[in-house]
Amino acid sequence: MTNSEVRSKKRKKSSKHHAPNNNHHGDEEQELPSSDSAKRAKSSKPSKPSGFLEKMRARLSGGHFRMLNEKLYTCTGKEALDYFQEDPSLFNLYHAGYQTQMSNWPEQPVNVIIKWLRKQNPSFVVADFGCGEALIANSVKNTVFSLDLVSNDPKVIACDMANAPIVSSSVDVAVFCLSLMGTNYQSYIQEAYRVLKPGGWLLIAEVKSRFDPNTGGADPEKFSKAILELGFNSVKQDFSNKMFILFYFTKKEKKNSKKNIEWPMLKPCLYKRR
Ligand code: SAH
Repeated sequence: MTNSEVRSKKRKKSSKHHAPNNNHHGDEEQELPSSDSAKRAKSSKPSKPSGFLEKMRARLSGGHFRMLNEKLYTCTGKEALDYFQEDPSLFNLYHAGYQTQMSNWPEQPVNVIIKWLRKQNPSFVVADFGCGEALIANSVKNTVFSLDLVSNDPKVIACDMANAPIVSSSVDVAVFCLSLMGTNYQSYIQEAYRVLKPGGWLLIAEVKSRFDPNTGGADPEKFSKAILELGFNSVKQDFSNKMFILFYFTKKEKKNSKKNIEWPMLKPCLYKRR
Protein backbone atom coordinates (compact mmCIF):
# COMPACT_ATOMS: atom_id res chain seq x y z
CA MET A 1 0.00 0.00 0.00
CA THR A 2 1.49 3.34 -0.92
CA ASN A 3 1.46 6.29 1.35
CA SER A 4 -1.02 8.08 -0.89
CA GLU A 5 -3.36 5.08 -0.76
CA VAL A 6 -3.21 5.10 3.02
CA ARG A 7 -3.84 8.83 3.03
CA SER A 8 -6.70 8.74 0.58
CA LYS A 9 -8.34 5.96 2.59
CA LYS A 10 -7.78 7.92 5.76
CA ARG A 11 -9.46 11.00 4.38
CA LYS A 12 -12.56 8.95 3.62
CA LYS A 13 -12.47 7.07 6.90
CA SER A 14 -15.51 7.82 9.03
CA SER A 15 -15.00 8.79 12.65
CA LYS A 16 -16.75 5.64 13.85
CA HIS A 17 -13.96 3.46 12.46
CA HIS A 18 -11.32 2.50 15.00
CA ALA A 19 -8.71 -0.21 15.03
CA PRO A 20 -9.39 -2.72 17.83
CA ASN A 21 -6.68 -2.14 20.45
CA ASN A 22 -3.55 -0.91 18.90
CA ASN A 23 -4.42 1.92 16.60
CA HIS A 24 -1.89 4.19 18.25
CA HIS A 25 1.01 2.23 16.75
CA GLY A 26 2.71 4.21 14.08
CA ASP A 27 -0.27 6.39 13.43
CA GLU A 28 0.75 9.95 14.07
CA GLU A 29 -2.54 11.35 12.81
CA GLN A 30 -4.70 9.42 15.20
CA GLU A 31 -7.62 11.35 16.61
CA LEU A 32 -8.33 11.13 20.29
CA PRO A 33 -11.46 9.25 21.27
CA SER A 34 -14.29 11.70 21.88
CA SER A 35 -14.43 10.98 25.64
CA ASP A 36 -10.81 12.07 26.00
CA SER A 37 -11.49 15.22 24.02
CA ALA A 38 -14.41 15.97 26.31
CA LYS A 39 -12.27 15.48 29.43
CA ARG A 40 -9.67 17.81 27.99
CA ALA A 41 -12.23 20.46 27.23
CA LYS A 42 -13.54 20.42 30.82
CA SER A 43 -10.19 20.32 32.58
CA SER A 44 -8.48 23.65 33.19
CA LYS A 45 -5.07 21.95 33.00
CA PRO A 46 -4.81 20.04 29.75
CA SER A 47 -3.14 16.65 30.23
CA LYS A 48 -0.22 17.62 28.05
CA PRO A 49 2.55 15.35 29.36
CA SER A 50 0.68 12.04 28.86
CA GLY A 51 -0.64 13.20 25.48
CA PHE A 52 2.87 14.09 24.51
CA LEU A 53 4.26 10.75 25.71
CA GLU A 54 1.53 8.86 23.89
CA LYS A 55 2.38 10.73 20.72
CA MET A 56 6.09 10.08 21.13
CA ARG A 57 5.44 6.39 21.76
CA ALA A 58 3.27 6.18 18.66
CA ARG A 59 5.98 7.93 16.63
CA LEU A 60 8.69 5.59 17.87
CA SER A 61 6.76 2.41 17.18
CA GLY A 62 5.53 3.78 13.84
CA GLY A 63 9.13 4.53 12.90
CA HIS A 64 10.25 1.11 14.00
CA PHE A 65 7.50 -0.55 11.95
CA ARG A 66 8.44 1.40 8.83
CA MET A 67 12.08 0.46 9.28
CA LEU A 68 11.27 -3.27 9.66
CA ASN A 69 8.88 -3.13 6.74
CA GLU A 70 11.52 -1.58 4.50
CA LYS A 71 14.03 -4.19 5.65
CA LEU A 72 11.69 -7.06 4.69
CA TYR A 73 11.00 -5.62 1.24
CA THR A 74 14.65 -4.97 0.43
CA CYS A 75 16.41 -8.15 1.56
CA THR A 76 16.24 -11.85 0.72
CA GLY A 77 14.20 -14.33 2.73
CA LYS A 78 17.38 -15.80 4.18
CA GLU A 79 18.52 -12.37 5.42
CA ALA A 80 15.07 -11.71 6.86
CA LEU A 81 15.14 -15.04 8.71
CA ASP A 82 18.58 -14.29 10.22
CA TYR A 83 17.44 -10.81 11.19
CA PHE A 84 14.31 -11.94 13.02
CA GLN A 85 16.02 -14.93 14.60
CA GLU A 86 18.46 -12.57 16.24
CA ASP A 87 15.62 -10.64 17.86
CA PRO A 88 12.23 -12.40 17.56
CA SER A 89 10.53 -9.58 19.51
CA LEU A 90 10.81 -7.45 16.36
CA PHE A 91 8.21 -9.71 14.80
CA ASN A 92 5.52 -8.58 17.27
CA LEU A 93 6.49 -5.00 16.69
CA TYR A 94 6.20 -5.50 12.96
CA HIS A 95 2.77 -7.10 13.26
CA ALA A 96 1.40 -4.41 15.56
CA GLY A 97 2.31 -1.83 12.90
CA TYR A 98 1.03 -4.08 10.12
CA GLN A 99 -2.36 -4.37 11.78
CA THR A 100 -2.60 -0.62 12.15
CA GLN A 101 -1.96 -0.19 8.45
CA MET A 102 -4.45 -2.92 7.57
CA SER A 103 -7.16 -1.39 9.74
CA ASN A 104 -7.33 1.37 7.11
CA TRP A 105 -8.26 -1.09 4.38
CA PRO A 106 -11.98 -1.54 3.67
CA GLU A 107 -11.51 -5.27 3.14
CA GLN A 108 -8.76 -7.63 4.33
CA PRO A 109 -7.40 -9.86 1.57
CA VAL A 110 -6.94 -12.68 4.08
CA ASN A 111 -10.70 -12.66 4.70
CA VAL A 112 -11.42 -12.98 0.98
CA ILE A 113 -9.11 -16.01 0.91
CA ILE A 114 -10.75 -17.51 4.00
CA LYS A 115 -14.18 -17.11 2.37
CA TRP A 116 -12.89 -18.82 -0.76
CA LEU A 117 -11.36 -21.68 1.25
CA ARG A 118 -14.61 -22.28 3.11
CA LYS A 119 -16.29 -22.98 -0.23
CA GLN A 120 -13.70 -25.60 -1.20
CA ASN A 121 -13.31 -29.19 -0.13
CA PRO A 122 -12.55 -29.19 3.64
CA SER A 123 -10.09 -32.03 3.09
CA PHE A 124 -7.83 -29.69 1.08
CA VAL A 125 -4.39 -29.33 2.65
CA VAL A 126 -3.35 -25.68 2.73
CA ALA A 127 0.10 -24.05 2.95
CA ASP A 128 -0.04 -20.44 4.14
CA PHE A 129 3.26 -18.88 3.06
CA GLY A 130 4.04 -15.85 5.25
CA CYS A 131 1.06 -16.51 7.53
CA GLY A 132 1.66 -13.64 9.99
CA GLU A 133 -0.68 -14.31 12.87
CA ALA A 134 -2.00 -17.53 11.30
CA LEU A 135 -5.46 -16.13 10.63
CA ILE A 136 -6.17 -18.77 7.98
CA ALA A 137 -5.29 -21.73 10.22
CA ASN A 138 -7.45 -20.22 12.95
CA SER A 139 -10.44 -19.73 10.65
CA VAL A 140 -10.84 -22.91 8.60
CA LYS A 141 -11.24 -26.62 9.32
CA ASN A 142 -8.61 -27.68 6.79
CA THR A 143 -5.14 -28.89 7.68
CA VAL A 144 -2.98 -25.78 7.31
CA PHE A 145 0.80 -25.50 7.28
CA SER A 146 1.38 -21.97 8.53
CA LEU A 147 4.85 -20.70 7.66
CA ASP A 148 6.54 -17.52 8.81
CA LEU A 149 9.93 -16.21 9.89
CA VAL A 150 9.05 -16.37 13.59
CA SER A 151 6.77 -18.73 15.47
CA ASN A 152 4.94 -17.38 18.52
CA ASP A 153 2.23 -19.95 18.08
CA PRO A 154 2.66 -23.76 18.02
CA LYS A 155 0.68 -23.77 14.76
CA VAL A 156 3.34 -21.71 12.99
CA ILE A 157 6.47 -23.24 11.48
CA ALA A 158 9.42 -20.82 11.60
CA CYS A 159 11.36 -20.92 8.35
CA ASP A 160 12.34 -19.00 5.28
CA MET A 161 9.49 -19.95 2.98
CA ALA A 162 11.94 -20.45 0.11
CA ASN A 163 12.72 -23.68 2.02
CA ALA A 164 9.44 -24.94 3.37
CA PRO A 165 9.63 -28.12 5.45
CA ILE A 166 6.77 -29.63 3.46
CA VAL A 167 6.84 -32.79 1.33
CA SER A 168 6.73 -32.28 -2.45
CA SER A 169 3.33 -32.60 -4.19
CA SER A 170 1.44 -32.83 -0.90
CA VAL A 171 -0.57 -29.61 -0.77
CA ASP A 172 -3.88 -28.65 -2.44
CA VAL A 173 -3.76 -24.88 -1.87
CA ALA A 174 -0.74 -22.57 -1.52
CA VAL A 175 -1.51 -19.06 -0.30
CA PHE A 176 0.61 -15.90 -0.38
CA CYS A 177 -1.34 -13.12 1.24
CA LEU A 178 0.71 -9.89 1.06
CA SER A 179 3.81 -11.96 1.74
CA LEU A 180 5.88 -11.73 -1.48
CA MET A 181 8.20 -9.34 0.31
CA GLY A 182 11.74 -10.64 -0.28
CA THR A 183 13.81 -9.58 -3.29
CA ASN A 184 13.95 -13.30 -4.18
CA TYR A 185 10.15 -13.64 -4.24
CA GLN A 186 10.32 -15.98 -7.25
CA SER A 187 11.97 -18.65 -5.09
CA TYR A 188 8.88 -18.61 -2.82
CA ILE A 189 6.62 -19.25 -5.80
CA GLN A 190 8.96 -22.00 -7.01
CA GLU A 191 8.70 -23.55 -3.55
CA ALA A 192 4.91 -23.39 -3.74
CA TYR A 193 5.13 -25.12 -7.10
CA ARG A 194 7.20 -27.89 -5.51
CA VAL A 195 4.84 -28.57 -2.61
CA LEU A 196 1.62 -28.35 -4.63
CA LYS A 197 -0.07 -31.41 -6.04
CA PRO A 198 -0.72 -31.30 -9.79
CA GLY A 199 -4.02 -29.45 -10.17
CA GLY A 200 -3.47 -27.69 -6.81
CA TRP A 201 -4.33 -24.02 -6.30
CA LEU A 202 -1.96 -21.07 -5.96
CA LEU A 203 -3.59 -17.93 -4.55
CA ILE A 204 -1.64 -14.68 -4.44
CA ALA A 205 -2.98 -11.47 -2.91
CA GLU A 206 -0.69 -8.49 -3.33
CA VAL A 207 -0.82 -4.74 -2.78
CA LYS A 208 -2.32 -3.12 -5.88
CA SER A 209 0.25 -0.36 -6.12
CA ARG A 210 3.00 -2.96 -6.60
CA PHE A 211 1.28 -3.77 -9.89
CA ASP A 212 0.75 -0.27 -11.20
CA PRO A 213 3.20 0.23 -14.09
CA ASN A 214 2.36 4.00 -14.05
CA THR A 215 4.04 4.35 -10.67
CA GLY A 216 6.96 1.97 -11.16
CA GLY A 217 5.01 -1.16 -10.32
CA ALA A 218 5.20 -4.44 -12.20
CA ASP A 219 2.96 -5.24 -15.14
CA PRO A 220 0.48 -7.80 -13.76
CA GLU A 221 0.53 -9.57 -17.14
CA LYS A 222 4.31 -10.06 -16.95
CA PHE A 223 4.00 -11.35 -13.41
CA SER A 224 1.27 -13.74 -14.45
CA LYS A 225 3.25 -14.85 -17.54
CA ALA A 226 6.25 -15.80 -15.37
CA ILE A 227 4.00 -17.94 -13.17
CA LEU A 228 2.42 -19.62 -16.20
CA GLU A 229 5.90 -20.40 -17.52
CA LEU A 230 6.80 -22.01 -14.20
CA GLY A 231 3.96 -24.46 -14.75
CA PHE A 232 0.61 -22.99 -13.77
CA ASN A 233 -2.66 -22.16 -15.51
CA SER A 234 -4.27 -18.81 -14.80
CA VAL A 235 -7.82 -19.22 -13.57
CA LYS A 236 -8.75 -15.69 -12.50
CA GLN A 237 -7.35 -12.25 -11.71
CA ASP A 238 -9.49 -10.18 -9.41
CA PHE A 239 -8.82 -6.43 -9.63
CA SER A 240 -12.11 -5.45 -8.01
CA ASN A 241 -10.65 -4.48 -4.65
CA LYS A 242 -9.24 -0.99 -4.24
CA MET A 243 -6.17 -2.01 -2.25
CA PHE A 244 -5.13 -5.45 -3.48
CA ILE A 245 -5.13 -7.79 -6.47
CA LEU A 246 -5.93 -11.48 -6.18
CA PHE A 247 -4.46 -13.99 -8.61
CA TYR A 248 -5.80 -17.55 -8.82
CA PHE A 249 -3.69 -20.21 -10.57
CA THR A 250 -3.69 -24.00 -10.70
CA LYS A 251 -0.62 -26.17 -11.08
CA LYS A 252 -0.40 -27.88 -14.47
CA GLU A 253 -0.50 -31.65 -14.56
CA LYS A 254 2.77 -31.77 -16.48
CA LYS A 255 6.00 -29.95 -15.63
CA ASN A 256 6.97 -27.03 -17.84
CA SER A 257 10.32 -27.05 -19.58
CA LYS A 258 10.89 -23.27 -19.68
CA LYS A 259 14.24 -22.48 -18.05
CA ASN A 260 14.97 -18.74 -18.13
CA ILE A 261 11.80 -17.24 -16.78
CA GLU A 262 11.75 -13.42 -16.63
CA TRP A 263 10.38 -12.41 -13.26
CA PRO A 264 9.40 -8.73 -13.08
CA MET A 265 10.69 -6.80 -10.10
CA LEU A 266 8.01 -6.19 -7.50
CA LYS A 267 8.59 -2.80 -5.99
CA PRO A 268 8.69 -2.56 -2.21
CA CYS A 269 5.61 -1.33 -0.48
CA LEU A 270 7.01 1.41 1.75
CA TYR A 271 5.22 3.72 4.14
CA LYS A 272 6.33 7.29 4.59
CA ARG A 273 6.00 9.08 7.85
CA ARG A 274 2.75 10.96 7.94
N1 SAH B 1 -0.46 -13.40 5.34
C1 SAH B 1 -0.68 -12.70 6.58
C2 SAH B 1 0.50 -11.80 6.97
C3 SAH B 1 0.96 -10.81 5.92
S1 SAH B 1 2.37 -9.84 6.44
C4 SAH B 1 -1.96 -11.92 6.50
O1 SAH B 1 -2.47 -11.67 5.42
O2 SAH B 1 -2.48 -11.56 7.56
C5 SAH B 1 3.64 -10.69 5.55
C6 SAH B 1 4.23 -11.83 6.33
O3 SAH B 1 5.14 -12.53 5.47
C7 SAH B 1 5.03 -11.37 7.53
O4 SAH B 1 4.57 -12.02 8.69
C8 SAH B 1 6.46 -11.79 7.21
O5 SAH B 1 7.21 -12.16 8.34
C9 SAH B 1 6.23 -12.97 6.26
N2 SAH B 1 7.38 -13.26 5.41
C10 SAH B 1 8.03 -12.41 4.60
N3 SAH B 1 9.08 -13.03 4.02
C11 SAH B 1 9.10 -14.31 4.49
C12 SAH B 1 9.94 -15.44 4.27
N4 SAH B 1 10.98 -15.38 3.44
N5 SAH B 1 9.64 -16.60 4.90
C13 SAH B 1 8.58 -16.67 5.74
N6 SAH B 1 7.75 -15.64 5.99
C14 SAH B 1 8.00 -14.46 5.37
